[in-house]
Amino acid sequence: MSTQDKTAVGSNPAHDTPIMRQYQAAKARFPKHLLFFRVGDFYELFYDDAKTISRALGLTLTSRNKGVDPIPMAGVPAHSAEPYLARLLRQGFSVAICDQMELASQAQGLVKREITRVVTPGTVLEENLLEPRKPNRIAALLAAPDTAPGASEIFGLAVADLGSGSFFLQELRGAGALRSEFARLSPTELLVAEKSLDASGRTLQAIPNLPLDGIALSLLKSEAFAPGEAHSRLLQRFSDNGKDKLASAQLKKLLKSQPLASCAAGALCGYIDETSPGGKVRLLAPQAFDPELFMELGEAAIRSLELLETIRARTFEGSLLWSIDRCCTPAGSRCLREWLVRPLRDLAAIQRRQDAVALLVEGSYRRADLRTELKKLGDLERIAARLSAARATPRDLVVLKDTLLLLPGLRELSARASENSGMLESAGPAAAMPAGSPLGKLCAPLDGLEPIAETIADRLRDDCPNALNQGGLIRDGHDPDLDRLHAIASGGKGWIVNFQASEIQRSGISSLKIGYNRVFGYYIEISHANRALVPDDYERRQTLTNAERYTTPELKSREAEVLGAEEKIHALEQRLFLQLREELAQHVPALNAAGQALAELDALCSLAEVAHKKGHVRPALNNGGKIQIDQMRHPVLEDTIPAGELVANDLNLCAGGLSQTDGAASEKNGAQIVILTGPNMAGKSTYIRASALCTILAQLGAFVPAERAEIGIADRVFTRVGAADDLAGGRSTFMVEMSEVAEILAGCTSRSLLILDEVGRGTSTYDGVSLAWALIEHLHEGAAKPRTLFATHYHELGALEEELPRVANASASVKEWQGEITFLHRIVPGASERSFGIHVARLAGLPDAVLARAKDILLALEEDGVRRIADEAGGADKKSAGRARKNSKHDGQLLLFDAPQELDPAIRELVQTLKSASPHEMTPVQALSLLDELVRKARKI
Ligand code: ADP
Ligand code: MG
Repeated sequence: MSTQDKTAVGSNPAHDTPIMRQYQAAKARFPKHLLFFRVGDFYELFYDDAKTISRALGLTLTSRNKGVDPIPMAGVPAHSAEPYLARLLRQGFSVAICDQMELASQAQGLVKREITRVVTPGTVLEENLLEPRKPNRIAALLAAPDTAPGASEIFGLAVADLGSGSFFLQELRGAGALRSEFARLSPTELLVAEKSLDASGRTLQAIPNLPLDGIALSLLKSEAFAPGEAHSRLLQRFSDNGKDKLASAQLKKLLKSQPLASCAAGALCGYIDETSPGGKVRLLAPQAFDPELFMELGEAAIRSLELLETIRARTFEGSLLWSIDRCCTPAGSRCLREWLVRPLRDLAAIQRRQDAVALLVEGSYRRADLRTELKKLGDLERIAARLSAARATPRDLVVLKDTLLLLPGLRELSARASENSGMLESAGPAAAMPAGSPLGKLCAPLDGLEPIAETIADRLRDDCPNALNQGGLIRDGHDPDLDRLHAIASGGKGWIVNFQASEIQRSGISSLKIGYNRVFGYYIEISHANRALVPDDYERRQTLTNAERYTTPELKSREAEVLGAEEKIHALEQRLFLQLREELAQHVPALNAAGQALAELDALCSLAEVAHKKGHVRPALNNGGKIQIDQMRHPVLEDTIPAGELVANDLNLCAGGLSQTDGAASEKNGAQIVILTGPNMAGKSTYIRASALCTILAQLGAFVPAERAEIGIADRVFTRVGAADDLAGGRSTFMVEMSEVAEILAGCTSRSLLILDEVGRGTSTYDGVSLAWALIEHLHEGAAKPRTLFATHYHELGALEEELPRVANASASVKEWQGEITFLHRIVPGASERSFGIHVARLAGLPDAVLARAKDILLALEEDGVRRIADEAGGADKKSAGRARKNSKHDGQLLLFDAPQELDPAIRELVQTLKSASPHEMTPVQALSLLDELVRKARKI
């Protein structure tokens, strides 16, 4: 409420009626939420809430108590409130729902109202309010109170996904680490202490550039984060107030090792309890998140490698996840997404996933069967979560039952996939799955859940509605009282059917009929035409245009019997349902585990399906320093361009400080740093990104688009995409670029993979070349010596190969033919020597004189510039050695090729045409016409 609204309360009696006092009391409990206040058939919102919702959803703003000082009001129909809630949640609003707890007709005085539901973006569990294929996470964040000057700040972070019950704590150092964690987690709601916001109310003081778009900020009182409060909450919730000795010892350890994150965790638990008035949502005991288990992918890598969405259009289509997600269930997609942003680092763990994928690739018949079954499953994880929170609907339980009944079949199919023989015929009776098989262990939690399904099947009707209070839930024969009530109700109904027949006979009105509505109950309807025949004992109830409605004392008494029985039936059924739901809640841990196993099984099937369909191969992983991929394809481009147009390329890298491989040392060592030159649009970025994507795929357990791959496990993949390629990110300043490079240099190790694309482009040419040059030297000479792919259009950098032994040049090759450039997208050894900018200018129609002059200037600049840099870098000895190399080259080769600036432009053009020709790619006719062109040019000289 604004201050203006507050002062209004006192000044106008309309604001101080009993119902408005009741409203204010409810609102005071959830001041920051929109309060949906049930009045009859509507949820009404008042004051600022009304204005907010009318803006957010385009609802009409009206007012209560029109006239002087009206109360702003807007409302939504109660029976169709869900879509409005969904839209509000998507906009980051939280809603508290205050319901009527009794019928207005039964109330004595003011209707009793209570807050029955609190809906916030991070705590919703309802199926229709959640995105099925994305995890929904809520986080609480706390910054260390005082940081020594110059030290990076420490943050305590607690993150829960109520849909799966997962609950993790971690303490992060520095804003960059926190940003990256947010990119991986993408929480929908963030809890912070009120005072940690700056004046704008949208920015956290400690981390001004933490992107909060799409995250609902919920402010808690600072006390919620106080250590005492937070710790006692955790102990109470997860160790039964210290009674569970083991759990409480583990918690104490956690509180000690992660004090800040524990405070955040306490605040998070408090908030979760407060927002689930009906029950206690299940959370697994909090665990310290161990970043060492996973490949570290920073926010920049996730974004620029387009793992989850494309950079420019920000669409899912075109992302890596889009290209590998063939999951049959939403839970599978959620699991795969998690695997993708957290690839593994442990060799054995990766190989376990690979083994499972390999089995499923081989048994393609079984995979198809498995996938058919998986498609029928309900979302076990989320149903289990709703069950724990006492929010599961009758339909949820039916889906739960149907899902559980499918599990034995799924078990059997996975067992057959594990048999590893591709023959369908061998599929005899359910083979026992070898416990050691990769699928065997995974599927263990699927066993033994049939009794739960039976319990549900015995009690709940398959066709039950979703509402709890309208009957139709419980099967006949389950409860004797219920059956008795049904008999009474149906007996009464049978009597009514007979009554219609006898009344037709008695009155002689053949069109007489008995009907029912909620307002008048049962009635006898007779058309006006037959009015004269109406018996004397009929009492009039209602007049319609064409007919009159009546009742009789007899009908009234039967009606009371039927309606009384039905009311009792509804109440009893609701009670029985709640009892069933409570009973089932004890199985939540088992259901949750089964749900997770199914999600993983589905994700593995998806990886196998992709590998099979697209011809990917199983990469050999080891702890060596090599990355060698033969005939590598870009995994997304492979899906988006026609097959014939995709060019595959080889990659061979080897970290400077590590042994190249665990075994076969015979092959040629790859370079530590590959400098990839070539004009714009030649395929440089695609190649280096494909390298990173294949490494990520390999470490998440997937197969890779290549003919063969050997990958020494990377601890981190860093990317820095230069200004020119990152306009859409809105981070094009050179400062940002350099600070990211600084972060990379500080964070990389000998096991890292660096993808540097056009670094240095954000400044002047000489500045840029010099920085890039120094950067490469540093990566080569520094302690880490990480594997590095450096794409650049500065072909001057090609000179580094001569200076540094572990640097190799490569270029994206281009074919020039009759004034046209064709990009071959083939990566070949050696630096690109040409400047294509001038070439493009020629295509665009610049005058020849200008072009010729530009070429001369360029060549002079390049010769001079490169020599200067090389000399600077080389020192005295290297300088003479470098010169000597250059001179010896001059001796052995035609001067014509090395000193083009001294030549007649016509000869130079002739030479250029010759140099850029690729005879083995020409048809005979093309070769002939090239020859013809050369001869004509030569004759002109
Ligand atoms: P650069 O970074 O050299 O400017 P890109 O890598 O952005 O070039 O590639 C430009 C375009 O060329 C891509 O959008 C893609 O359509 C195409 N391309 C790149 N590499 C390949 C390839 N290996 N096979 C087929 N097409 C490719
Ligand atoms: Mg590029």
